[in-house]
Amino acid sequence: MKRIDTGRVIIVGAGLAAHYAALTLAPRPVLMISPEPLGKGASSAWAQGGVAAAMDPADSAAAHARDTVQAGAGTVDAQVAQAVTNEARAHILDLTELGTPFDRTPEGEYVMSREAAHSFARVVRVRGDQAGAEIMRALTAQVREAEHIQVLEGVMATSLETLNGAVCGVTVANCTNGLSAPCLIRGAAVLLAGGGSGGLYALTTNPPPVRGQVIGMAARAGAVIADAEFVQFHPTAINCGLDPAPLATEALRGEGAILINRHGVRFMQDAHPDAELAPRDIVARAVFAQTQAGLAPALDTRRALGTRLLRDFPAVAAACQKAGLNPLVSPIPVAAAAHYHMGGVATDAAGRASLEGLWACGEVASTGLHGANRLASNGLLEALVYGRRCAKDIDAALGPVTEHQAAVCLPDMPADALPRADLVAQLRHTMTNGAGVIRTAQGLQNTLGDIGQIEATQPDSVALANMTATATLITAAALNRRESRGAHFRSDHPESNGATGTRSFLTLTDARAHARLETT
Ligand SMILES: Cc1cc2nc3c(=O)[nH]c(=O)nc-3n(C[C@H](O)[C@H](O)[C@H](O)COP(=O)(O)OP(=O)(O)OC[C@H]3O[C@@H](n4cnc5c(N)ncnc54)[C@H](O)[C@@H]3O)c2cc1C
Repeated sequence: MKRIDTGRVIIVGAGLAAHYAALTLAPRPVLMISPEPLGKGASSAWAQGGVAAAMDPADSAAAHARDTVQAGAGTVDAQVAQAVTNEARAHILDLTELGTPFDRTPEGEYVMSREAAHSFARVVRVRGDQAGAEIMRALTAQVREAEHIQVLEGVMATSLETLNGAVCGVTVANCTNGLSAPCLIRGAAVLLAGGGSGGLYALTTNPPPVRGQVIGMAARAGAVIADAEFVQFHPTAINCGLDPAPLATEALRGEGAILINRHGVRFMQDAHPDAELAPRDIVARAVFAQTQAGLAPALDTRRALGTRLLRDFPAVAAACQKAGLNPLVSPIPVAAAAHYHMGGVATDAAGRASLEGLWACGEVASTGLHGANRLASNGLLEALVYGRRCAKDIDAALGPVTEHQAAVCLPDMPADALPRADLVAQLRHTMTNGAGVIRTAQGLQNTLGDIGQIEATQPDSVALANMTATATLITAAALNRRESRGAHFRSDHPESNGATGTRSFLTLTDARAHARLETT
């Protein structure tokens, strides 16, 4: 395999966590790896609601931390929640400074949206549902200008390279015309910022590159993965046959939109006292149950928003138009779709993973902030807080910047096999069927069996191995957890084992051993 040595910090991924970390690392040379043109192929640019932060003087970081702990169903690390929510305000001010045009009142205060399970309206937003797109637009402009950052576009990471147990580089492949034979890049440090795992499911809101590959890479190198079983399903993905499914943001329910079924029955009032603003897992299960029963759940924005939807939620309006739906006339058909992975590479307060030389931030990491159920709009916040912490810790670990680093120039890499599309589709279907909104031991065992077969059918595809590694971890951890907690619901163990629970920590070897035991 061809090898390149560089003194640059290698950042795998190009979403919010990667951008923020790369900018913080200045003037230290950075190499950012982006499978798509910068700003595309990242969940960050699709975020509609905004960033949770106690910006109103009547609100507080302590209240934000309490809501985070409450939503996480007994598995949030309270110290992490307090520390992250304390920092939130400073990051909103920094994003503003970096050019994000957050919505303001005529008096200049931040306009705050209300989202489910928040005790306060505390989500800063941009033009209704444009937060992610505008934050990324502002940061991408800064990254493009920054002399210390080199971006490799159209390239994906496939494996971590270790030397004496420490991570020292990544193998990358060109993905513009199918995957190419890999090239090894050794760098000063490796920071994973490759997003979550939603795309491992057939019904998802995540962009196509976000398929758990980067968690899988870390797991294959031996990193500990935490809380893998906790996958959040969003209750109001627009059910219109598109893959990925466009999102109808929770802020619509914050504005009074209601969930009804084909008979016009408002079903959330019976399910929870907070009705449509109940915790996300409860709404997702109620929507899923309606779908399973053939009752065609839908989000009715007509009375609460009317034509204001077109002005205040342009992304939702555009998605409806693309799908041939008219929300001014009929409710928007919705389904529960894989949306956010609370689990990921286990990291400490500085963003360090269990392997030396490896850091992780953003959705790819599991910091203890989200527990079994992420509080809405804490995802972008976590990417900001840990993006910056990782950058600072890497900087401290590497010492002063002494040398200029030449740009990395990849050699011509001959084309290699892509993961077979039929196998990826099978993987996504078995995850949705067996490891989805409602799980059973039998369904999870079947899924583990399917994953094993898929792996064996194309053993030479590293990209597929990354996906199956993450799928194995999610499924084995879900099988291990014989209770229901937050987003993890087992119909064969519907109760929680007490109000507080333990987090799960697994290596891929543990997960595979467990899978073997359970399926033989
Ligand atoms: C539709 C939608 C709406 C959302 N709304 C909100 C919201 O309002 N508020 C909120 O807080 N959160 C929201 N979330 C969640 C939030 O957007 C994510 O958790 C957050 O953006 C994660 O940021 P990230 O930088 O970790 O990952 P991402 O932004 O997903 O970036 C991951 C990057 O890694 C790249 N990548 C993937 N595989 C590889 C590989 N093998 N090699 C190299 N690079 C790779 C991807 O292409 C991408 O560039 C939403 C998510 C979605 C999908």
